[in-house]
Amino acid sequence: MKQHLSERIQNMATSATLAMAAKARELRGEGKDIIGLSLGEPDFNIPDFIKEAGKQAIDENYSSYTPVNGYAELRQAISKKFKRDNGLDYSEKQIVVSSGAKQSLANVAMVLLNKGDEVILPAPFWVSYHDIVKLAEAVPIMVPTTIDTDFKITPQQLEAAITPRTKMLWFSSPCNPSGSVYSEEELEGLAAVLRKHPNIFIASDEIYEHINFRSEHASIANLDGMYERTITVNGVSKAFAMTGWRIGYIGAADWIASACTKFQGQITSGANAIAQRATITALEAPPSKIQFMIDEFKQRRDLVLGLLKEIPGFKVNVPEGAFYVFPDVSDFFGRTLKGVQINNSSDLAMYLLEHANVATVTGEAFGAPNCIRISYAASTEELVEAIKRIKEAVS
Ligand code: PMP
Ligand code: GLU
Repeated sequence: MKQHLSERIQNMATSATLAMAAKARELRGEGKDIIGLSLGEPDFNIPDFIKEAGKQAIDENYSSYTPVNGYAELRQAISKKFKRDNGLDYSEKQIVVSSGAKQSLANVAMVLLNKGDEVILPAPFWVSYHDIVKLAEAVPIMVPTTIDTDFKITPQQLEAAITPRTKMLWFSSPCNPSGSVYSEEELEGLAAVLRKHPNIFIASDEIYEHINFRSEHASIANLDGMYERTITVNGVSKAFAMTGWRIGYIGAADWIASACTKFQGQITSGANAIAQRATITALEAPPSKIQFMIDEFKQRRDLVLGLLKEIPGFKVNVPEGAFYVFPDVSDFFGRTLKGVQINNSSDLAMYLLEHANVATVTGEAFGAPNCIRISYAASTEELVEAIKRIKEAVS
């Protein structure tokens, strides 16, 4: 009967991150001792002051439909956050709150892309970009980068990828999965190219903004000529460990924001009321309230980098943000490990799951077939044990 499913869904890939997390859960259910380093999800609890705001919202009966684009108080808080953290002026009208940044991105795709439009995705890119773009009947144009340029696209590569059909550029900084962070100078290099092509829009996914170990976060919308055509995407899943509360948002030109609201009004009616109230409290708090998580992530990154260096065949860049390492593991391709032939990164990720009981994600899902992604949003004990197991399994 599956043939009756729409071509749309038949052509869509399952989210590799979520699929690997589900597989790990299933194996755990069978009694296997799986260490899950596949899902990009902070392992911290939501800070208490945000939980309290959620409880209070329930008690205060925030239980009705909210305005489709989000409570006005929340959009005010987001507007202030954009100004405080990013120097960006987005009025309440230019902000749309959605059920996670994933939905924010889907809205943007649905309102801006037409069939056949090209969207440049510097690879590695976050898994869902590819399939969201395809869902909008647009064409993902993957531009591969390598560990030698710290997995960042150069202005020359961007220029070479642009055609008369290019409609958008989508990227994340800090990047999931490479952890790379674009400096303002590097963004300026890209902006210089984009200035020659005024009809190209940009989805700047800044959801890892606070998880940055190197520098000030830079937003491309701040650069000359970029504001009107950038959709700045953000959310509370990563910085506030609120993944399950499902709140994301955009700041954009008001005609784009209005279109996203119109679309969302037919699809979800808007994001969860209680989570929206709690998000006001989260965003009004000074970023210093979450610094402990960032400090902890940095320590774990250093730990993981140190341990991975001891595994021959794992080549790693130094990720400056987010909570992933993205080793190039192509040295293993063509080799046999414990009788298992490894031809690509999917083979290696599956091998690690079955022979090391460690869940990672294949780089193929991120458009980087030489790599695997390891999330270090896990406890120190788990990380040490996982990398020990990986080392044993591949040596
Ligand atoms: N963008 C990137 C780069 C991500 O890693 C994630 C993580 N899920 C998202 C967007 C979506 O986040 P959420 O829907 O939880 O807000
Ligand atoms: N963004 C996270 C990840 O990349 C969460 C899973 C998802 O939303 O795909 O693993």
